[in-house]
Amino acid sequence: MSKGGGSDDLGDKQVSNVVRRSWDVELYEKKAKERLERGDEVEEARPASSKAALNKEEFQPAPDGAQGPAGSRRAYLKARTEKVDLESRLHKTQVITSAAASSSQGGYWCEVCKCLLKDSIAYLDHINGKKHQRALGFSMRVERSSVGSVKEKLDKLRARAEDAAKASGAPRKSAVQEYEERLAEYAAAEERNRQERREAAAAAKEAAEHEEEQDEEAAAIAAMMGFGGFSGGKR
Ligand SMILES: [Zn+2]
Repeated sequence: MSKGGGSDDLGDKQVSNVVRRSWDVELYEKKAKERLERGDEVEEARPASSKAALNKEEFQPAPDGAQGPAGSRRAYLKARTEKVDLESRLHKTQVITSAAASSSQGGYWCEVCKCLLKDSIAYLDHINGKKHQRALGFSMRVERSSVGSVKEKLDKLRARAEDAAKASGAPRKSAVQEYEERLAEYAAAEERNRQERREAAAAAKEAAEHEEEQDEEAAAIAAMMGFGGFSGGKR
């Protein structure tokens, strides 16, 4: 970088022999056509700070007057109820010009902290992180569960299970009932197995007897014909 004269800052190796990049127009045209044929959507670079972006759950500030840890102005951390949208722009092509605002240069833009995250993992780490949560007015501490709140939650879950059972039409069975039914099923299966084994044994016995009879018959015929059978006994 010591040589002067050129405004291009390409490093020592290329200063004396500045090569202009040339684009393989044909190749890129072909690629663009393929993209069009595949039906890839081309999005205009639009500012990410649109209303839709601000409506995202991860950008919602803590509500006024929300309860928080003692001695803190911030609200208790709360779990998200919706899925974070990380995939809606997958398989889409976006044209980005050099003049595009950093919020629309691809990747994931945090509208609260005005920062660009380059991939979904970094974005998740960011929106779950202290800096972002603080900016929204949340503490990193969660509310301690009380016996009452746990009971309330369990009641809610039980009511939901009962509703589901009612909706499916079948009356809800008690655990004991279910256990006894399973036990009866198991005993019946066992009895079926035993019966099958008995039948198989009887059939095998019958076959063996039949074979014996045949052997005797063959021996009798062989004796009648004057030789001692096929046993291959040594003479
Ligand atoms: Zn943020």
